This record gives sequence, C-alpha cells and structure tokens, in this order.
Amino acid sequence: MGMGGGATQCAGARGPPEVCGRQPAPSEAERMSRMPTRAEKVEGGIWGCLVADACGVPYEFHRPEEIPSAPLIDFVPPPGFTRAHAGTPPGTWSDDGAQVLCLLASLLHHNRLDLDDLGRRLVNWNDHGYMAVDGRVFDVGVQTGRALLALRRGVPPHEAGPADEYANGNGSLMRVLPLAIWHRGTDEELVVDAHRQSLVTHGHVRSQVCCALYCLWARRTLDGAQDPWASATAALREAYAAGAEGAPFLAELEFNVRPDEPAGGQGSGYVVDCLRSARWAVAQGDFEAVVKAAISLGHDTDTTACVAGGIAGLRDGVGAIPERWLRALRGREEVEPLVAVLRVLRGEAGHGGRSAQ
Ligand SMILES: [Mg+2]
Repeated sequence: MGMGGGATQCAGARGPPEVCGRQPAPSEAERMSRMPTRAEKVEGGIWGCLVADACGVPYEFHRPEEIPSAPLIDFVPPPGFTRAHAGTPPGTWSDDGAQVLCLLASLLHHNRLDLDDLGRRLVNWNDHGYMAVDGRVFDVGVQTGRALLALRRGVPPHEAGPADEYANGNGSLMRVLPLAIWHRGTDEELVVDAHRQSLVTHGHVRSQVCCALYCLWARRTLDGAQDPWASATAALREAYAAGAEGAPFLAELEFNVRPDEPAGGQGSGYVVDCLRSARWAVAQGDFEAVVKAAISLGHDTDTTACVAGGIAGLRDGVGAIPERWLRALRGREEVEPLVAVLRVLRGEAGHGGRSAQ
C-alpha cells in the first residue's frame, strides 16, 4: 500500500480536530486537565510512536552534545543544524513507524499474530514501500536487512532473524507496541507472542526478552498501573518461572537486561540500552518532554523516541500529543482507519480490553 493520497476517514471522535471537523479543538488547559479515556490511550500509543519517530529522524546519528536544547527540538531543527536524512521532508516517519504499521495491519487483518504474514509485510515494506510515507524506504537496520534477505530466500519467519549475541539491535523492539495494545490474552500469552514477534528479524533471546518486558510495560501503562515498569517486571519474572522453558529467558532478564537497575541509557541502537533509555525518557515529563528527552540522548534518536513515545502516548492519551505534531505528521490519513479499528477493538474495558488494576 502506498501512503500517498487516499480518502480521509474519521471513524473515531478523537484525532486531529481539523481532520474530523466535528468539534472545536479543546484548549491546552482543557486537554491537560482530565484523565484520558482508554480509547484515547489506545490512539495515543500508535500516534505516539509515529510522531516521536518522525520528530527524531533529523537528529539521528548525532552525538548528544550536538543535539539542540529541548525548546529547539522540533520536527524542523533550528537553522544551522545538520539534519540526518536531509532528503526526507519534516514529519516523515522512518522504518520504525512503517514497521509498527506493518505489525498493526497484520494483527487487525488476521486477528492473530501470523509470522508468515508479518514477514511478507516487512519484505513488502522494504521492497515496495508498503506503509512508508510516499512509498519511500530509508533507515533500514542491519539485522533487519539480513533477516529480510533470509525471508526472500524462503527461510521460515521464526528462523529468519539473526540469533547471534551481536545481533541485538533494537529493530524488533521498536515495532512491537501494537501487539501489546491489540493483545487480549494472559500475560503469559502476551510474553510468548512478544518473543515470536521478535524472531522474524531478531532471534536472540535478549531481543525477545526486551520485547516481552516492553509489551508488559505497555499493557500496565494502558491499564493505569501505579508503577507500570515494576509491575511488568514482576509479571515477566512470574511468567518465566512458571514455564518449564523459561529458565534461559529468566537468566537473560536478570543478567543482561537487569530491569531493577536505575533507568538511563545512551540512546544507542543496542536493544537493552534502547529500552533503558526509553524508560528514563518516559519519566521526564509530559508527552512532548518525553520525546525531547529521548532525542536529547543523541545517536538512534528516532528509535529511542519511538519506543518512549509509544509508552508516553499510552499513558497520556492522544490529547497529550502536541497538535502541531499531529498536524504536521505526513501520511497520517492512511493510518487513521487502522487506529480507528484498534480503538473500537481495544478502546473499552469489557469489550476485549483488560480491566484497570
Ligand atoms: Mg528509524
């Protein structure tokens, strides 16, 4: 599917007001003064990933000392800043956003995690620009590129992702959020699917564990848990302890992911560092502050922002995403129908959603 053109749809009452045209935009004070509904949080998760990825794109590859101060970080960097991906218009999501949408579309189409279908959509993205804005692919990760080569050769998707220890980039983590929002199974079932989702491009146990921890963190955030990270960590330990095959995953969690350590990272492309960086960024304030904090770490700015922005969007709801960012996000018209379906499926507790805890 190309991302250009297409009829504007508005199945949800929320979303950028100038798109829906149903009600005047609430003032900033009104938007900030009330708790988001579950439906707004569901929307916020997906839009949060896309907006944050797009915001981070021009800052990628820069060292933290080269990143502008927070007030100057925006879709368009300040004059004099050397933009990464200079040929890419502001407001364009990269591989992160495109793969989030590949996974979301696959889940909604099949109503299950179908790795064959996900693998085909990822190849379709890389080869034909499916889910890429303007159909233009850029910023493809090294391990993902290797995995897509394997998929094209006919390697089954659960064996396609490189599984050596040095193949632990953040490429399967950056796209996994839709799984956590869409999933209505138990924590254990979500963990199993988070692992499987990773295998298509990142087969090592460490990448699988990071995806599982992130999914539970997202689920607890959506459910409004008091301390979503701690609750997710406890649930993951429980899931690994309960399963006979959980021992290597539990060892990986304790010795390499180390979720009890203080939050903080370097903004790198290493999956564990990315998750830690995102955890730190999420604690830095409202949605905009979270995205800017993630970008301030430099290096893999778009992916750190995407991973953190998804959680911040789930936490604060779509209403907390600055309207100037939603308005300036390119290609969003094609996403709105997908988000509307997800909102209907998972937006209300009692209709497939989990009850708040
Ligand atoms: Mg990217």
